Amino acid sequence: MMKKSYCLGIESTADDFSVGISNFDGKILANVISAYIPEKGGIHPREAARHHAEVADKVLEEAFKKAKIKLKEISIIAFSQGPGLGPCLRTGATVARALAAYLNVPLVGVNHCVAHIEIGKLTTGAADPLTLYVSGGNTIVSAFDSGRYRVFGETLDIALGNCLDVFAREAGLSQRAGLPFGAMVEKIAGKGKKLIPLPYTVKGMDVSLSGLLTATVNLLKQSTYSLEDLCYSLQETAFSMVTEITERALTHTEKKEVLLTGGVAANKRLQSMIKYIAEEHDANFCVAPTQFSIDNGAMIAWTGILAYRHGVTTPVEKSFVRLKWRLEEVAIPWIK
Ligand code: AMP
Ligand code: MG
Repeated sequence: MMKKSYCLGIESTADDFSVGISNFDGKILANVISAYIPEKGGIHPREAARHHAEVADKVLEEAFKKAKIKLKEISIIAFSQGPGLGPCLRTGATVARALAAYLNVPLVGVNHCVAHIEIGKLTTGAADPLTLYVSGGNTIVSAFDSGRYRVFGETLDIALGNCLDVFAREAGLSQRAGLPFGAMVEKIAGKGKKLIPLPYTVKGMDVSLSGLLTATVNLLKQSTYSLEDLCYSLQETAFSMVTEITERALTHTEKKEVLLTGGVAANKRLQSMIKYIAEEHDANFCVAPTQFSIDNGAMIAWTGILAYRHGVTTPVEKSFVRLKWRLEEVAIPWIK
């Protein structure tokens, strides 16, 4: 009988350090995530990296416990090679190189954005979707065409999740309450009634969110409107913008599935908007389950397997992190 093989994936692009373990058939055996929550303010890359270094051993141990396998059963080490924050990426890459050297197994550097799409496909059954990937660091509309995941639209400045997070911090909300900022904004928005006119900025196939954020924060400081109405209006405006470019890309590509993923995919209002346009175009709407939507190690493990199966490995001397590694730069040999 063939020896069982597993891939261990390490995710560390931003605030989360995560270890996932997948087998060659895409069965996820573990997906342990440790989030760095700053005392105050946004993510400081060096502080987040320090968190990752501190929790790495515990997260690894827990992943092996969950997977019920031994270290020696790992046959590939995959890691998030980019895009992301330098210190955070380097911490994950260092752990990955050390493990690969110790076990004497191949290393596979994975593009974080590709991994979000692949785990979304694996966990929803989508085969060839148009994907809206919205998170703390990325806002991308993408679909596969001629060997690569092409970017049809994206943010020209800040990411959608970041826009919600900054607004929540300005409003004095605290993540210590246990909910992500975006989820808090969603909850408060549910009580909003009045749609306040805010800057709606779609440029061609791209969106710009920083003007919207500034305008909403300025109104917050003037105390003219309730926080409920501001959250509601911010969500309606920002989500309409990403929905508009997603719909246009759907019309152009004529894909039959729309996949929503990334941390912001948990938002019910955004889900309903994307579902609506998907149905309008006779496409299936799919949303990745939350633990596979947020930054997670399982997506890196699974994409590591897809790449390895098609002859992709990353020699240590080429395993430097790529802070600005764009989605469409990556060749995808596993899709014909
Ligand atoms: P990620 O970068 O993929 O780990 O996702 C984190 C982002 O998702 C942060 O910006 C969160 O505020 C955001 N997020 C999490 N839950 C929700 C939600 N229910 N609605 C909107 N944004 C959310
Ligand atoms: Mg995150």
